Amino acid sequence: MTETEHAQLETWKRKYYDSVEQAEARERRWAGMEELLRRTITRLSLAADGLDATLDRQLGELRNAIRDRADDRALQQRIEAMSATLVRLDSDRASAARTPGAVESLQLLLEQTRFPRGKARRLKALRKQLDALEDAEAARAVDRVAALLNELLAVQLPQAAAPARGLRRWLGGQTRPDVAVEAGASEPGPAGPAPQQERMTAPASGAAGHELLLQLLEQLGLPEAFDARIEALQQRLEEDSDCDTLAALHEITDMVAEMRVQLQREKQEIEDFLQQLTDRLQDVDSFVKGAEGERQAAYEQGRELGDAVQAQVRGIESDVQDAQELSQLKQTVQARIDAIVEHVEQHRQAETARNQAADARVQTLQQRLHDLEGEAAELRERVRQQRSQALTDALTGIPNRLAWDERVQQEYARWKRFQTPLALLVWDVDNFKPINDEYGHKAGDKVLRVIAGLLADNIRETDFIARFGGEEFAMLVTGAGVGDVSRVAEKLRVAIEACGFHYRGQDVSITISCGIALFADGDTVEAVFERADQALYRAKEQGRNRCVLAEAVDGG
Ligand code: GH3
Ligand code: MG
Ligand code: MG
Repeated sequence: MTETEHAQLETWKRKYYDSVEQAEARERRWAGMEELLRRTITRLSLAADGLDATLDRQLGELRNAIRDRADDRALQQRIEAMSATLVRLDSDRASAARTPGAVESLQLLLEQTRFPRGKARRLKALRKQLDALEDAEAARAVDRVAALLNELLAVQLPQAAAPARGLRRWLGGQTRPDVAVEAGASEPGPAGPAPQQERMTAPASGAAGHELLLQLLEQLGLPEAFDARIEALQQRLEEDSDCDTLAALHEITDMVAEMRVQLQREKQEIEDFLQQLTDRLQDVDSFVKGAEGERQAAYEQGRELGDAVQAQVRGIESDVQDAQELSQLKQTVQARIDAIVEHVEQHRQAETARNQAADARVQTLQQRLHDLEGEAAELRERVRQQRSQALTDALTGIPNRLAWDERVQQEYARWKRFQTPLALLVWDVDNFKPINDEYGHKAGDKVLRVIAGLLADNIRETDFIARFGGEEFAMLVTGAGVGDVSRVAEKLRVAIEACGFHYRGQDVSITISCGIALFADGDTVEAVFERADQALYRAKEQGRNRCVLAEAVDGG
């Protein structure tokens, strides 16, 4: 095997190890998702605590079962046992709940969540802001509350931000007091849950729980194979306000579990191939060793032949010197020449046999390498596809949050090294919730696709756009100063405003707001993102459909 072939095999080997790692990473992600779902069940169940003694007992059992990691069937049984109680309670629960005002809810939320010390300053500022707000103005503070809570969410999922984001929707809407406050408040993240929650809202069955589930579904990003099931579930949740929230949640859990099985299978396939590859490499190795042995043997034999011939030739010399009689000399010399011919013939035969064996082995080896090349190419293609699928947002086809995390680190490193200007932009669709509410989720999805397409098509190849989550997009613009970046953003904003979107014959106005921040000396990605996010918040506050540049920071 030549050195290049060897190097190629090494490269493939590395690639396959990489792909196993990727599969594992994805599996971890799904494990995280399952964890999130279990927690959501716990949260939903906490929301219903204190309503009814029977229900309390059943909920307690459910939470214990989740905590003890009971299997799906055990959970299912508990949930079914609970349905009857829920039906009984459904009629009188609404009147029983006490609903605190919007600002008070936010304050409660902050109180009940344990924040690490690093957040103390922001927490205090936020409390102060809340103290000064009327209920009707609460929406102004929600982004900041949500941002703070999001930072606490333990699950390292790209999309895990969903529950806290729901806050804004709730406060924006006002009519549904029980959507996501519970999700934020009882989040048993690293900061730990507040041990005994004060009940803030009505229980989680019914339309509000459905909203949470719809959001969860939107965030899941399951592959196409699940499309039909997801759509059916979405429809059930949207249209049938009586459908069983916990059962729906279970269906989502099932889908996630199936996805994990599928991922494990893929991983197994890749591992099998790796094993095969290792076997083949061992073949090659033993061939190389064999060939070395052969070479040694051939060398030895050649030397033996040389020695034998030399001995006979010396014999002839002394025969000639000692010869008394010509006829006798002729006989002895002839005998020696015969011996030489014999040696040479034996040597030739051995050589031929050796060559034939080596040829056969080379042929086998070539065939195996050829097969392997074919398999490797196939696998390489699969790995490439999987990788690109893992980094693409299924709904819009643009890079997803995972891709963003990778790219932003790359660009950050490049910026640190070369100091070419780098800007980070956060985009958020304006009043998107009403679009969903008025025209349905399908229309909402279409809007997201259109916006993603417009943003992606109107940036330079060196710039980058990703769907950051929900109706938010994050963008990197390289090599442009403040003025240019603002112009780019403004151009994109106008393009979206002017796109003339319509759905089933009706004009639907869509606009988008943007926060812009430039990387400055001593910056971290998180700090820049935070500034851009704050600027976005200001854009919303100032009336939406605008781009706001974050104030420059002092270096260091
Ligand atoms: P604002 O101008 O302040 O941003 O208001 P908004 O209504 O856009 O903001 P809010 O965060 O309250 O609502 C965002 C909505 O986006 C809620 C959620 O259901 C919806 N959403 C998130 N992801 C998807 C998705 O993939 N498809 C659809 N159809 N809707 C989504
Ligand atoms: Mg948003
Ligand atoms: Mg929005």
